[in-house]
Amino acid sequence: MNLDKSKKLFEEAVNYLPGGVDSPIRAFKPYPFFVEKAKGSKLFDADGNEYIDYCLGYGPQILGHANDALIEAANEQLELGTAYGVPTEKEVILAKEVISRVPCAEMVRFVNSGTEATMSAIRLARGVTNRNKIIKFEGAYHGAHDAVLIKSGSGAAGKPDSPGVPEDATRNTISAPFNDEEAIRRIVAENGEDIACIILEPIMGNVGCIPPREGFLKFLREITLENNIILIFDEVITGFRLSRGGAQEYFGITPDLVTFGKILGGGFPIGAIAGKKEYMEQFAPNGPVYQAGTFSGNPMSINGGIAALKILDDKLYRDLHDKGEYLRSGMSDILTDLNIDFQLHGVESMTQVYFSEDEVYDYATAQQANSDEFLNYFRTLLENGVFVAPSQYECGFISSEHSREDLDKTLEAMELAFKNL
Ligand SMILES: *Cc1c(COP(=O)(O)O)cnc(C)c1O
Repeated sequence: MNLDKSKKLFEEAVNYLPGGVDSPIRAFKPYPFFVEKAKGSKLFDADGNEYIDYCLGYGPQILGHANDALIEAANEQLELGTAYGVPTEKEVILAKEVISRVPCAEMVRFVNSGTEATMSAIRLARGVTNRNKIIKFEGAYHGAHDAVLIKSGSGAAGKPDSPGVPEDATRNTISAPFNDEEAIRRIVAENGEDIACIILEPIMGNVGCIPPREGFLKFLREITLENNIILIFDEVITGFRLSRGGAQEYFGITPDLVTFGKILGGGFPIGAIAGKKEYMEQFAPNGPVYQAGTFSGNPMSINGGIAALKILDDKLYRDLHDKGEYLRSGMSDILTDLNIDFQLHGVESMTQVYFSEDEVYDYATAQQANSDEFLNYFRTLLENGVFVAPSQYECGFISSEHSREDLDKTLEAMELAFKNL
């Protein structure tokens, strides 16, 4: 595979963009391919190479790239203007659509990213409970703001995970192992009166793909209700990915607040906080909890979201379900035939493989998987025209535009990659 142009572009980019990129994971070694365009399930790079894409912009492109309906929505909105600083009817339309789908959603505040959504949801939880502590799960990613950038692992827990984050910003963040009821019971017993919220991804999509154990979400719902702690589902990945109403509909557990991003904008930048009216009304201007943004509810993203959700119906989710099952059963057959130790996790159109003989159910067990083998797997896939995210801590996604032929080609590349381990 010829990557001369990408190599040159990267060598130039590092002079002008820190690390040559605008978000760290994009800088995989020795250099990333530079995308020129994308359509459907495929990315096309500067050297004319083609990749079947399972990264999908790290989640948003559930309808594939450059979807015709999204192009139309964008063109329509461009003509009408792109930022007004005054409300639009379309914000109400999209809010009503979210509320009709998502069990906990009674009101919505639109923002510009998942980071902003979780930051604001945590502020709201602290504001309405008048408590400061929050619980998150080890290794879980809720965006790049101070309160959630804490080190994982015992000993280091509670310390900032980046220079520039003051200890004061993480002092009130408690990290707990995922899927561990006992740990949560203990933390709540020790800090119950001070805990504002528990925030979690219902499926850990930033530690690969780790589903909740049977009963774990129900346990969290019960213990938070008993202790007046606000339960926040961070559905920036799972929202509109697992089903029409996201993970809370899929698992049948209703949190107090939810955060969205990624898919909600139909490929345009967006975030949202939704939840119980009594809490949401506490946001400014009605309530005292401050939250604001120049581009919040911006019409390009809102119109993109309206267009995307129109297409995201039950039939589409059934189709994604079938594709996910097809891919995983193919992967599992190959891995088993080759006698490789693996843990294959997947829910609907989310999939990740770990090269480990032991069960993976939280961050610590994911860390035990062989990440060098994963990188090797990633590289062979890339050389064979299949792009998955370059880390075992990310999740693979399937779009509505992935064809059976794409999946079969992918399985062929995976067979090569698994043989190459
Ligand atoms: C991507 C992600 C975020 C951050 O969203 P951005 O739009 O990148 O700021 C937050 N939470 C989860 C679960 C995510 O996957």
